[in-house]
Amino acid sequence: MIKITGKGVYGAIAIGKISVFNRNEVPVKRAHITDVDAEKERFERAKADTLRELGEIYEKALKEVGEANAQIFEIHQMMVEDDDYNESIINIIETQKVTADYAVAVTADNFAAMFAAMEDAYMQARAADVKDISNRIIKNLTSVGEQGGVSENQVIICADDLAPSETVSLDKEKVLAFVTAYGSSNSHTAILARTMNIPAVIGTGEKMLEQVSDGALAIVDGYTGTIYVDPDEETIAAMKKKQDEDAARKRLLLELKGKENVTLDGRHVNIFANIGGPQDIGAVLLNDAGGIGLFRSEFLYLENSDFPTEEEQFRAYKKVLESMAGKKVIIRTLDIGADKQVDYFGLDKEDNPALGFRAIRICLKRPEIFKVQLRALFRASIYGNLGIMFPMITSEKEIEQIMAIVEEVKTELREQGLQFSDSIELGIMIETPAAAVISDRLAPMVDFFSVGTNDLTQYTLAIDRQNPKLEDFCDTHHEAILRLIELSAKNAHEHGAWIGICGELAADTTLTEKFLKMGIDELSVSPSFVLKVRDAVRSLDLSK
Ligand code: PEP
Ligand code: MG
Repeated sequence: MIKITGKGVYGAIAIGKISVFNRNEVPVKRAHITDVDAEKERFERAKADTLRELGEIYEKALKEVGEANAQIFEIHQMMVEDDDYNESIINIIETQKVTADYAVAVTADNFAAMFAAMEDAYMQARAADVKDISNRIIKNLTSVGEQGGVSENQVIICADDLAPSETVSLDKEKVLAFVTAYGSSNSHTAILARTMNIPAVIGTGEKMLEQVSDGALAIVDGYTGTIYVDPDEETIAAMKKKQDEDAARKRLLLELKGKENVTLDGRHVNIFANIGGPQDIGAVLLNDAGGIGLFRSEFLYLENSDFPTEEEQFRAYKKVLESMAGKKVIIRTLDIGADKQVDYFGLDKEDNPALGFRAIRICLKRPEIFKVQLRALFRASIYGNLGIMFPMITSEKEIEQIMAIVEEVKTELREQGLQFSDSIELGIMIETPAAAVISDRLAPMVDFFSVGTNDLTQYTLAIDRQNPKLEDFCDTHHEAILRLIELSAKNAHEHGAWIGICGELAADTTLTEKFLKMGIDELSVSPSFVLKVRDAVRSLDLSK
């Protein structure tokens, strides 16, 4: 048995087989062949399989994400059949007498380098596509499973790290647990694991990848951040017991469903849920959240290979609003940048992405993108109780600019005879120390504040939330953070705004009492933490 330790980011136990996540690249060795014709036939067969698969993916995408998004798979099919691409592969097989796998890999590298060197951002992005289709062909040549190695059965995914877009694209039904060598507990992968109720251990160090192998039995203990590879009988029995106790505790929490979020002395608080998209609504309803306090709309962008259209966004927002049947739904506008990178935005590489061109800064500099989202949000507003909030605010000027764009959008919609609600609440995230410090000036400009403690912690303590080496320095209860929240609460209330917390700290029940005493009106947490927080609220007596 091998014991590996990291940091547990979602407390639960998973027992199952390991699947090592292999990113797009499939390592291919140069190997010689003698029968050139047989090799060319092998290539043609793999190509035909690839075209068939891409056709199936296109059909699935057409149904699930609409024609605009499905188109990329038509382009992939065209790339597979491209004459230059095919000639290069055949040429390499014939002249160098090497395997088709190698010929495809070399061609992929050459074509990707050629695309990457082009001026045009759209063409540069094609480098990833040519690698993608080539890997699919190589997989069909070698009969390796799908990307990510997620097979028919449920598995424990072990990876160096997972980008948010990779995490969202995994088939959640098949993931028992995540284990990553890097990452930090506030990274979006960790947040997603919590949203999806999946035990996860991060920051194990890269040696972990040498200690795990596909198909090996393992246990992930998300409470202690431990992974047992090839566990002995004793460990299996102990972990199964822990898993049973866990299930019993979770059942007990479910008994809190339908109960009010009220303290013993009668103080009510809203407990809402954080989501990444319509797919999380099931968890929100199951856990009886009173609304949605944070819809991270950027996931609509991360899941796509091009800008989601107004129509696509409208459909997603409408679906969430309708599913919540009149309960509050706060949708945060695009928060791209830092750890949430999207190729098609064509953003420059930055030395300090967390302090860089991100979130509202992108929206204000590229209003054409921002307006599409605002139009979709306003149009969807008639289907429920919408609040819109803006991330990464630092100044009054930004809010003035936002409000001017909002007014433009409203005017355009009116002119086009398109309906929208006149009771949409507009709020801002308090996630920079600047916003908290001048919250007395910002509060009169908005309906509500929502404290993003993940970024507020990062910026207040000067601790990169992505850097696992800094976990020990990251005191999430630091007095500076608590004072900034308290100050924001006081200023919000003095100016008639309400205030919630939607960062991970909202679920920290050791702080619930403090937050309620500060006057926090709403706590928005991962769906799986709603009942835990309700339990904490119901056991408090603030009069003492
Ligand atoms: C936060 O910063 O606390 C927050 C809720 O936003 P995100 O985690 O998406 O950056
Ligand atoms: Mg944030």
